[in-house]
Amino acid sequence: MGPVLVLVTASGGVADEVALQGLALGRRLAPSGPVHALVIADEAATTGLGAWGATQVHLARHAALGAQAPDAAARILDDLATQLEADIVIGPGTEAGNTILARAAARADLPFAANCTAVRAGNPLTVTRLRWGGSLLEEAAIHAARAMLSVAPHAIPATPADGVATIAPFTPELDDADLAVRVVDRVAAVAGGVSLAEAKVVVSGGRGVGSADGFKQIEELAGLLGAAVGCSRAVTIAGWRSHTDQVGQTGTKIAPNLYIACGISGATQHMAGAKGSRKILAINKDAEAPIMSAADYAVIGDLHQVVPAISAEIRRARGA
Ligand SMILES: Cc1cc2nc3c(=O)[nH]c(=O)nc-3n(C[C@H](O)[C@H](O)[C@H](O)COP(=O)(O)OP(=O)(O)OC[C@H]3O[C@@H](n4cnc5c(N)ncnc54)[C@H](O)[C@@H]3O)c2cc1C
Repeated sequence: MGPVLVLVTASGGVADEVALQGLALGRRLAPSGPVHALVIADEAATTGLGAWGATQVHLARHAALGAQAPDAAARILDDLATQLEADIVIGPGTEAGNTILARAAARADLPFAANCTAVRAGNPLTVTRLRWGGSLLEEAAIHAARAMLSVAPHAIPATPADGVATIAPFTPELDDADLAVRVVDRVAAVAGGVSLAEAKVVVSGGRGVGSADGFKQIEELAGLLGAAVGCSRAVTIAGWRSHTDQVGQTGTKIAPNLYIACGISGATQHMAGAKGSRKILAINKDAEAPIMSAADYAVIGDLHQVVPAISAEIRRARGA
């Protein structure tokens, strides 16, 4: 097998966890061969990638690469894959990663297998991947000169390695057309410090919370538990929370140790994002709600009484 190239996305100088999971997959597919990592613009994120399985890190530097520009990133990825004669290109199965991989695959006229949970070496390479928001697992074979795939978050653990990678900065060729699509502004989510995708505990509210104001009780419990706040789509449609808080098929896929779902019925599309949770506590006044079949624990009752009671009990137990 030829070289493997892994796109490592990062934020604020730190490689994304799912990108490290991509490196672990690359290492697994090429145990003795080179595992190249591509980092775009973010020099700080190149640090320590050898300890996660990269053997060589390519750092793309270009004056025009300040803002995220998916076409530019796709061109850089495609050009580097061609130059390295990479057999496999792996990216993170995030919106940003899939956007870049899809564009790179289209440029090269190659198929793209997004959101893989397992990849088996061989000719052809075979994958298991999430479809329909995770409610279906597809087995597929990639018949292509180069396999382009992204790894679903939390499917393959990031694995520390012993190596030290060399870092090779280079200036990619780009023109104006590559920069036509780019991020021009960012509006920060009005949220606490815990990221929903990475949180160990998530407290979510659904339509049963009743109003934007009702989320104060959810936020209070989340604050006490060091948890992230999530919600259902009914809530984002009602405008009570921003879409960045939404858990589900069209929201964030989470994998906490504990998911506390308050006033959420447990629709398939919601559970598509929540089924990676190790334990689920459902708080719902309807003992027959669909979420009960997925829940490990349940409290049947009005969340406006149950949630503050849990918060009060936590405070009492902590002597606060
Ligand atoms: C293509 C597509 C994609 C979708 N993507 C997503 C997605 O990503 N995420 C998502 O969440 N949904 C998604 N949906 C919507 C999904 O089908 C459901 O409509 C939605 O999840 C319902 O949200 P809910 O559970 O908050 O509301 P409901 O289904 O209305 O449930 C409310 C629950 O609250 C309980 N309740 C009410 N009052 C109280 C109270 N005081 N105390 C305790 N319990 C109470 C009720 O018993 C009920 O079980 C998608 C739908 C489609 C078609």
